[in-house]
Amino acid sequence: MTVDHAARRARLAAALPELSADAVLVTKPVNVRYLTGLASSNAALLVRVGEAGAVLATDVRYIETARRICPDVEIVQERDVAGALAGRAAGARLAVEAHHMPVAEFHRLGDARGATLVPVSAPVERLRVVKDEAEIDLLRTACAITDQAFADVLPVIRPGVTEREIARALETRMAELGADKPAFDSIVAAGPNGAVPHHSPGDRPVRRGDLVTMDFGALSAGYHADMTRTVAVGEPAGWQRDLYDLVREAQRAGRHALRRGASAHDVDAAAREVIAAAGHAGDFGHGLGHGVGLEIHEDPFLGPDKPGRIEDRVPITVEPGVYLPGKGGVRIEDTLVARDDRPELLTKTTKELLVL
Ligand code: ZN
Ligand code: ZN
Repeated sequence: MTVDHAARRARLAAALPELSADAVLVTKPVNVRYLTGLASSNAALLVRVGEAGAVLATDVRYIETARRICPDVEIVQERDVAGALAGRAAGARLAVEAHHMPVAEFHRLGDARGATLVPVSAPVERLRVVKDEAEIDLLRTACAITDQAFADVLPVIRPGVTEREIARALETRMAELGADKPAFDSIVAAGPNGAVPHHSPGDRPVRRGDLVTMDFGALSAGYHADMTRTVAVGEPAGWQRDLYDLVREAQRAGRHALRRGASAHDVDAAAREVIAAAGHAGDFGHGLGHGVGLEIHEDPFLGPDKPGRIEDRVPITVEPGVYLPGKGGVRIEDTLVARDDRPELLTKTTKELLVL
Protein backbone atom coordinates (compact mmCIF):
# COMPACT_ATOMS: atom_id res chain seq x y z
CA MET A 1 0.00 0.00 0.00
CA THR A 2 1.47 3.35 -0.98
CA VAL A 3 1.06 6.56 0.96
CA ASP A 4 -0.23 9.66 -0.81
CA HIS A 5 1.74 12.45 0.87
CA ALA A 6 0.48 15.03 -1.63
CA ALA A 7 -3.10 14.30 -0.57
CA ARG A 8 -2.12 14.85 3.07
CA ARG A 9 -0.55 18.21 2.20
CA ALA A 10 -3.68 19.18 0.26
CA ARG A 11 -5.83 18.43 3.31
CA LEU A 12 -3.56 20.60 5.43
CA ALA A 13 -3.71 23.48 2.92
CA ALA A 14 -7.50 23.20 2.81
CA ALA A 15 -7.65 23.65 6.59
CA LEU A 16 -5.59 26.86 6.62
CA PRO A 17 -8.29 29.46 5.86
CA GLU A 18 -10.29 28.46 8.92
CA LEU A 19 -7.09 28.88 10.96
CA SER A 20 -6.81 32.46 9.62
CA ALA A 21 -3.58 31.61 7.85
CA ASP A 22 -2.50 31.45 4.23
CA ALA A 23 0.56 29.31 4.78
CA VAL A 24 1.84 26.93 7.42
CA LEU A 25 5.38 26.19 8.57
CA VAL A 26 5.64 22.62 9.85
CA THR A 27 8.68 22.08 12.06
CA LYS A 28 7.80 19.09 14.26
CA PRO A 29 9.83 16.23 12.74
CA VAL A 30 7.09 13.60 12.98
CA ASN A 31 4.68 15.95 11.18
CA VAL A 32 7.20 16.65 8.42
CA ARG A 33 7.50 12.90 8.06
CA TYR A 34 3.72 12.49 7.87
CA LEU A 35 3.48 15.08 5.10
CA THR A 36 6.52 14.10 3.04
CA GLY A 37 7.79 10.68 4.09
CA LEU A 38 11.14 12.16 5.17
CA ALA A 39 12.27 10.97 8.61
CA SER A 40 14.89 13.37 9.94
CA SER A 41 15.94 15.39 12.96
CA ASN A 42 16.15 18.65 11.04
CA ALA A 43 13.61 19.46 8.37
CA ALA A 44 10.74 21.89 7.89
CA LEU A 45 7.93 22.11 5.39
CA LEU A 46 6.12 25.15 3.97
CA VAL A 47 2.61 24.58 2.62
CA ARG A 48 0.64 27.46 1.11
CA VAL A 49 -3.05 27.86 0.35
CA GLY A 50 -3.85 27.61 -3.32
CA GLU A 51 -0.45 26.30 -4.34
CA ALA A 52 0.06 22.67 -5.16
CA GLY A 53 3.80 22.75 -4.53
CA ALA A 54 5.27 22.61 -1.04
CA VAL A 55 8.82 23.53 -0.03
CA LEU A 56 10.89 21.15 2.08
CA ALA A 57 14.07 22.39 3.78
CA THR A 58 16.62 20.06 5.30
CA ASP A 59 20.36 19.96 5.83
CA VAL A 60 23.16 18.15 4.06
CA ARG A 61 22.69 14.97 6.10
CA TYR A 62 19.23 14.30 4.69
CA ILE A 63 19.29 16.11 1.36
CA GLU A 64 19.91 13.06 -0.83
CA THR A 65 17.18 11.09 0.89
CA ALA A 66 14.81 14.02 0.55
CA ARG A 67 15.48 14.31 -3.19
CA ARG A 68 14.89 10.60 -3.64
CA ILE A 69 11.68 10.18 -1.67
CA CYS A 70 10.08 13.61 -2.19
CA PRO A 71 10.35 14.24 -5.95
CA ASP A 72 7.13 16.27 -5.99
CA VAL A 73 8.19 19.03 -3.58
CA GLU A 74 10.75 21.81 -3.98
CA ILE A 75 13.77 21.03 -1.84
CA VAL A 76 16.02 23.60 -0.17
CA GLN A 77 19.32 22.69 1.46
CA GLU A 78 19.73 24.80 4.58
CA ARG A 79 20.80 24.25 8.17
CA ASP A 80 18.37 26.89 9.52
CA VAL A 81 15.36 25.14 8.01
CA ALA A 82 12.66 27.22 9.72
CA GLY A 83 14.43 30.49 9.01
CA ALA A 84 14.82 29.67 5.33
CA LEU A 85 11.16 28.80 4.89
CA ALA A 86 9.85 31.69 6.97
CA GLY A 87 11.84 33.95 4.65
CA ARG A 88 9.93 32.45 1.72
CA ALA A 89 6.66 33.41 3.39
CA ALA A 90 7.34 37.13 3.82
CA GLY A 91 4.05 39.02 3.91
CA ALA A 92 2.01 35.91 4.60
CA ARG A 93 0.00 35.01 7.64
CA LEU A 94 2.12 32.02 8.53
CA ALA A 95 0.71 29.38 10.88
CA VAL A 96 3.28 27.76 13.17
CA GLU A 97 2.89 24.80 15.50
CA ALA A 98 2.22 26.47 18.85
CA HIS A 99 2.54 23.20 20.79
CA HIS A 100 6.00 22.54 19.37
CA MET A 101 7.83 25.79 18.56
CA PRO A 102 9.92 27.27 21.40
CA VAL A 103 9.02 30.83 22.35
CA ALA A 104 12.53 32.04 21.45
CA GLU A 105 12.19 30.52 17.98
CA PHE A 106 8.78 32.15 17.55
CA HIS A 107 10.29 35.58 18.26
CA ARG A 108 13.38 34.97 16.12
CA LEU A 109 11.31 34.03 13.08
CA GLY A 110 8.72 36.74 13.58
CA ASP A 111 11.27 39.52 14.10
CA ALA A 112 13.60 38.74 11.25
CA ARG A 113 11.59 37.26 8.43
CA GLY A 114 8.70 39.59 7.74
CA ALA A 115 5.93 37.02 8.00
CA THR A 116 3.12 37.41 10.51
CA LEU A 117 3.28 34.30 12.64
CA VAL A 118 -0.01 32.77 13.72
CA PRO A 119 0.35 30.24 16.54
CA VAL A 120 -1.95 27.32 15.82
CA SER A 121 -2.51 24.31 18.05
CA ALA A 122 -1.67 20.98 16.41
CA PRO A 123 -2.88 21.57 12.83
CA VAL A 124 -1.15 18.43 11.53
CA GLU A 125 -1.98 16.24 14.52
CA ARG A 126 -5.66 16.86 13.80
CA LEU A 127 -5.19 15.34 10.37
CA ARG A 128 -3.26 12.43 11.81
CA VAL A 129 -6.04 11.20 14.13
CA VAL A 130 -7.90 9.25 11.45
CA LYS A 131 -5.48 6.87 9.75
CA ASP A 132 -5.47 5.66 6.19
CA GLU A 133 -5.39 1.94 5.54
CA ALA A 134 -1.67 2.05 4.69
CA GLU A 135 -0.94 3.35 8.17
CA ILE A 136 -3.17 0.74 9.79
CA ASP A 137 -1.28 -1.90 7.86
CA LEU A 138 2.01 -0.64 9.32
CA LEU A 139 0.50 -0.73 12.80
CA ARG A 140 -0.69 -4.27 12.15
CA THR A 141 2.89 -5.26 11.41
CA ALA A 142 4.23 -3.55 14.55
CA CYS A 143 1.59 -5.31 16.66
CA ALA A 144 2.30 -8.70 15.07
CA ILE A 145 5.98 -8.34 15.97
CA THR A 146 4.95 -7.44 19.52
CA ASP A 147 2.68 -10.48 19.85
CA GLN A 148 5.32 -12.82 18.49
CA ALA A 149 8.06 -11.44 20.75
CA PHE A 150 5.84 -11.97 23.78
CA ALA A 151 5.12 -15.57 22.81
CA ASP A 152 8.80 -16.25 22.20
CA VAL A 153 9.93 -14.71 25.51
CA LEU A 154 7.40 -16.48 27.75
CA PRO A 155 9.82 -19.38 28.49
CA VAL A 156 12.31 -16.84 29.87
CA ILE A 157 9.88 -15.70 32.58
CA ARG A 158 10.60 -17.94 35.55
CA PRO A 159 11.86 -17.55 39.12
CA GLY A 160 15.29 -15.94 39.29
CA VAL A 161 15.21 -13.92 36.06
CA THR A 162 15.26 -10.16 36.67
CA GLU A 163 12.87 -7.53 35.36
CA ARG A 164 15.71 -6.04 33.36
CA GLU A 165 16.54 -9.37 31.74
CA ILE A 166 12.93 -9.86 30.67
CA ALA A 167 12.85 -6.35 29.19
CA ARG A 168 16.07 -7.00 27.30
CA ALA A 169 14.77 -10.34 26.01
CA LEU A 170 11.58 -8.71 24.71
CA GLU A 171 13.50 -5.92 23.02
CA THR A 172 16.08 -8.24 21.47
CA ARG A 173 13.36 -10.53 20.14
CA MET A 174 11.42 -7.61 18.64
CA ALA A 175 14.57 -6.44 16.84
CA GLU A 176 15.17 -9.95 15.52
CA LEU A 177 11.61 -10.01 14.23
CA GLY A 178 12.15 -6.79 12.28
CA ALA A 179 11.36 -3.94 14.68
CA ASP A 180 13.39 -0.76 14.17
CA LYS A 181 13.56 -0.40 17.96
CA PRO A 182 11.25 -0.53 20.99
CA ALA A 183 8.31 1.85 20.65
CA PHE A 184 9.05 3.20 24.16
CA ASP A 185 10.97 2.25 27.29
CA SER A 186 9.69 -1.23 28.12
CA ILE A 187 8.05 -1.71 31.51
CA VAL A 188 8.56 -4.97 33.38
CA ALA A 189 7.26 -4.98 36.95
CA ALA A 190 7.36 -8.07 39.17
CA GLY A 191 5.55 -8.64 42.45
CA PRO A 192 4.94 -5.45 44.47
CA ASN A 193 6.57 -3.37 41.71
CA GLY A 194 3.43 -4.05 39.68
CA ALA A 195 1.67 -1.47 41.83
CA VAL A 196 3.68 1.25 40.02
CA PRO A 197 2.07 1.77 36.59
CA HIS A 198 5.28 3.03 34.94
CA HIS A 199 7.86 1.06 36.91
CA SER A 200 11.36 1.02 35.37
CA PRO A 201 12.67 -2.55 35.13
CA GLY A 202 15.37 -3.17 37.72
CA ASP A 203 17.36 -6.00 39.24
CA ARG A 204 14.55 -7.54 41.24
CA PRO A 205 14.35 -11.23 40.38
CA VAL A 206 10.99 -12.81 39.67
CA ARG A 207 9.77 -14.99 42.53
CA ARG A 208 7.23 -17.79 42.59
CA GLY A 209 3.89 -16.24 43.47
CA ASP A 210 4.57 -12.98 41.59
CA LEU A 211 2.34 -11.31 39.09
CA VAL A 212 4.58 -9.87 36.37
CA THR A 213 3.34 -6.97 34.24
CA MET A 214 5.02 -6.29 30.89
CA ASP A 215 4.15 -3.16 28.88
CA PHE A 216 6.10 -2.92 25.65
CA GLY A 217 5.79 -2.68 21.87
CA ALA A 218 7.62 -2.61 18.58
CA LEU A 219 8.36 0.43 16.46
CA SER A 220 8.11 -0.54 12.81
CA ALA A 221 8.35 1.85 9.84
CA GLY A 222 7.58 4.75 12.17
CA TYR A 223 4.46 3.20 13.75
CA HIS A 224 4.15 2.28 17.42
CA ALA A 225 2.61 -0.86 18.91
CA ASP A 226 1.60 -0.86 22.57
CA MET A 227 0.60 -3.93 24.56
CA THR A 228 0.50 -4.89 28.24
CA ARG A 229 0.03 -8.34 29.69
CA THR A 230 0.22 -9.51 33.30
CA VAL A 231 1.18 -13.15 33.92
CA ALA A 232 1.40 -15.26 37.07
CA VAL A 233 4.58 -17.10 37.98
CA GLY A 234 3.44 -20.15 39.89
CA GLU A 235 -0.16 -20.82 40.89
CA PRO A 236 -1.77 -17.44 41.71
CA ALA A 237 -3.35 -16.66 45.07
CA GLY A 238 -7.07 -16.02 45.19
CA TRP A 239 -6.69 -12.24 45.36
CA GLN A 240 -4.38 -12.28 42.34
CA ARG A 241 -6.84 -14.23 40.24
CA ASP A 242 -9.73 -12.00 41.37
CA LEU A 243 -7.75 -8.89 40.48
CA TYR A 244 -6.88 -10.32 37.08
CA ASP A 245 -10.48 -11.27 36.33
CA LEU A 246 -11.65 -7.80 37.33
CA VAL A 247 -9.18 -6.00 35.05
CA ARG A 248 -9.95 -8.38 32.21
CA GLU A 249 -13.67 -7.68 32.61
CA ALA A 250 -13.01 -3.91 32.65
CA GLN A 251 -10.80 -4.17 29.56
CA ARG A 252 -13.49 -6.12 27.72
CA ALA A 253 -16.08 -3.46 28.64
CA GLY A 254 -13.78 -0.73 27.34
CA ARG A 255 -13.13 -2.55 24.06
CA HIS A 256 -16.83 -3.16 23.52
CA ALA A 257 -17.65 0.51 24.11
CA LEU A 258 -15.17 1.59 21.44
CA ARG A 259 -16.98 2.48 18.25
CA ARG A 260 -17.48 5.40 15.93
CA GLY A 261 -19.47 8.14 17.62
CA ALA A 262 -18.76 7.05 21.20
CA SER A 263 -17.42 9.85 23.40
CA ALA A 264 -13.91 9.51 24.82
CA HIS A 265 -15.46 9.94 28.23
CA ASP A 266 -18.02 7.16 27.78
CA VAL A 267 -15.47 4.62 26.57
CA ASP A 268 -13.37 5.37 29.64
CA ALA A 269 -16.42 5.13 31.89
CA ALA A 270 -17.42 1.72 30.52
CA ALA A 271 -14.22 0.23 31.91
CA ARG A 272 -13.92 2.45 34.96
CA GLU A 273 -17.40 1.57 36.23
CA VAL A 274 -16.50 -2.13 36.32
CA ILE A 275 -13.49 -1.36 38.50
CA ALA A 276 -15.42 1.08 40.69
CA ALA A 277 -18.23 -1.43 41.25
CA ALA A 278 -15.63 -3.80 42.71
CA GLY A 279 -14.51 -1.12 45.17
CA HIS A 280 -11.27 -0.25 43.39
CA ALA A 281 -12.13 3.18 41.94
CA GLY A 282 -9.15 4.71 43.73
CA ASP A 283 -6.72 2.09 42.44
CA PHE A 284 -7.09 2.97 38.74
CA GLY A 285 -5.49 6.39 38.54
CA HIS A 286 -4.76 6.85 34.84
CA GLY A 287 -6.77 7.28 31.67
CA LEU A 288 -8.13 4.27 29.82
CA GLY A 289 -6.15 4.71 26.63
CA HIS A 290 -4.54 6.83 23.95
CA GLY A 291 -4.17 7.04 20.22
CA VAL A 292 -1.10 5.48 18.62
CA GLY A 293 0.54 6.08 15.27
CA LEU A 294 3.69 7.98 14.40
CA GLU A 295 3.84 8.81 18.13
CA ILE A 296 3.29 6.43 21.00
CA HIS A 297 0.86 8.80 22.72
CA GLU A 298 -1.27 10.89 20.40
CA ASP A 299 -4.87 12.05 20.09
CA PRO A 300 -7.42 10.91 21.01
CA PHE A 301 -7.07 10.22 24.72
CA LEU A 302 -9.65 8.23 26.71
CA GLY A 303 -10.29 9.55 30.20
CA PRO A 304 -12.98 10.91 32.53
CA ASP A 305 -12.27 14.49 31.45
CA LYS A 306 -11.35 13.90 27.81
CA PRO A 307 -13.37 15.65 25.11
CA GLY A 308 -14.26 14.45 21.66
CA ARG A 309 -15.77 11.46 19.95
CA ILE A 310 -14.23 8.38 18.42
CA GLU A 311 -14.07 8.23 14.65
CA ASP A 312 -13.72 5.40 12.18
CA ARG A 313 -10.12 4.25 11.51
CA VAL A 314 -8.64 5.59 14.76
CA PRO A 315 -6.00 3.30 16.33
CA ILE A 316 -6.19 3.50 20.09
CA THR A 317 -5.25 1.54 23.20
CA VAL A 318 -7.54 0.22 25.93
CA GLU A 319 -5.50 -0.31 29.09
CA PRO A 320 -7.21 -0.41 32.45
CA GLY A 321 -5.17 -1.38 35.49
CA VAL A 322 -5.64 -1.87 39.20
CA TYR A 323 -2.66 -1.12 41.44
CA LEU A 324 -2.48 -2.18 45.08
CA PRO A 325 0.42 -0.50 46.88
CA GLY A 326 2.73 -2.98 48.56
CA LYS A 327 1.04 -5.95 46.90
CA GLY A 328 1.14 -5.66 43.12
CA GLY A 329 -1.02 -4.86 40.16
CA VAL A 330 -2.60 -5.98 36.93
CA ARG A 331 -2.84 -4.10 33.64
CA ILE A 332 -4.13 -5.45 30.35
CA GLU A 333 -3.62 -3.35 27.22
CA ASP A 334 -4.40 -3.88 23.58
CA THR A 335 -3.89 -1.72 20.53
CA LEU A 336 -7.10 -1.63 18.50
CA VAL A 337 -8.54 0.29 15.58
CA ALA A 338 -11.92 1.90 16.17
CA ARG A 339 -14.26 1.09 13.33
CA ASP A 340 -17.90 1.89 12.62
CA ASP A 341 -19.21 -1.00 14.64
CA ARG A 342 -16.78 -3.21 16.51
CA PRO A 343 -13.09 -2.41 16.85
CA GLU A 344 -10.39 -4.34 15.06
CA LEU A 345 -7.97 -5.95 17.48
CA LEU A 346 -4.32 -5.54 16.43
CA THR A 347 -2.56 -7.11 19.43
CA LYS A 348 -3.86 -10.65 19.51
CA THR A 349 -2.06 -12.23 22.47
CA THR A 350 -4.47 -14.12 24.72
CA LYS A 351 -6.03 -12.35 27.67
CA GLU A 352 -6.50 -15.57 29.61
CA LEU A 353 -4.34 -15.48 32.75
CA LEU A 354 -1.13 -17.26 31.81
CA VAL A 355 0.30 -19.26 34.71
CA LEU A 356 3.98 -19.90 34.06
ZN1 ZN B 1 1.57 0.39 27.06
ZN1 ZN C 1 -0.40 2.62 26.25
